[in-house]
Amino acid sequence: MFVPKRIIFEKDSLDYDTGKEILNKFKDKDDVEIINVTSNKLKQHIPGEDFYAQYREGKKTLVVGAKKSLKFQSCKPSAHYQLPLISGCMGQCEYCYLNTKLGDKPFVKVHVNIDEILAQAKKYIDERLPEITIFEGAATSDPIPVEPYTHSLEKAIVFFGKNQNARFRFVTKYNDVDTLLDLEHNGHTEIRFSINTSSVIDKYEHATASRDLRIEASIKAAKAGYPIGFLVAPVFLYPNWKEEYHDLLLSLSSKLPKDLKTPVTFEIISHRYTSTAKNIILQVFPESELPMNDEERKFKYGQFGYGKYVYQKENIDEIKQFFIEEIEKLFENNEVKYVI
Ligand code: SF4
Repeated sequence: MFVPKRIIFEKDSLDYDTGKEILNKFKDKDDVEIINVTSNKLKQHIPGEDFYAQYREGKKTLVVGAKKSLKFQSCKPSAHYQLPLISGCMGQCEYCYLNTKLGDKPFVKVHVNIDEILAQAKKYIDERLPEITIFEGAATSDPIPVEPYTHSLEKAIVFFGKNQNARFRFVTKYNDVDTLLDLEHNGHTEIRFSINTSSVIDKYEHATASRDLRIEASIKAAKAGYPIGFLVAPVFLYPNWKEEYHDLLLSLSSKLPKDLKTPVTFEIISHRYTSTAKNIILQVFPESELPMNDEERKFKYGQFGYGKYVYQKENIDEIKQFFIEEIEKLFENNEVKYVI
């Protein structure tokens, strides 16, 4: 659960119940600073002389606001639209793409006009009838750590559970899923867990849940009947990588219920980086040991037009073969969506 050091309330946010509830929860806590702003100039309220310090202070800052533009971003290829409930994340994963995307605004922002956001989702669903419309709830965030304050996942899951023509999905590196277990999801929400070996998590994924807590949470969600998926990302090649990824998959397969109604999905993404990301990462984590030696990688243009440094082709082939064989061996009912 996210425990902020400061909370910035944007103008109008206290007109909504969720905004008021967040204020009531924190207003008497001496160690949480409450700031009310009337403009959208948030940065001046977050201390830090340089990027390094601003990142760390930003990650401890919760911004409470109402989503003004209700035009949803598209979210191809995994969904039709992003569901804009939250942006940012308390985690401090060294490789996180939010470091590039959110830049010097790494704070967590929650949108309190959840009913308006869901009403807008309904319009998008109706426009595409009789097709099914898929919404992604974690395109620019990890929504789980702020769920105790917003209940926005809860509202979204119940909303999509009632709608035959919509599906919802989100991904998390956290384990606080207990409040979601008894909801009437009707199998319309897929919860994906981003997992990795303990070596990778301990070294690069600061302030996230441990490997075993994520596995435990995924088992709870599976037992609650949610369609379940795993994002194994980023995959790193290091001594013993095969043993450790095998151990991770084995631990999962031994604990998952055997009578799942839907296949367990897997998305496997090998480590990659852009030059822009590398620059930012090295400012925020100057001691980072992320393998980012350009000479050892292959430079490849991605579908969005910018180049990335990916593992060499023979490494990617080895990763593909390893994961496809392991998953096939260990999970009876599986669907490997892609290995890249
Ligand atoms: Fe980024 Fe996910 Fe880590 Fe949060 S948990 S910092 S969204 S990679």
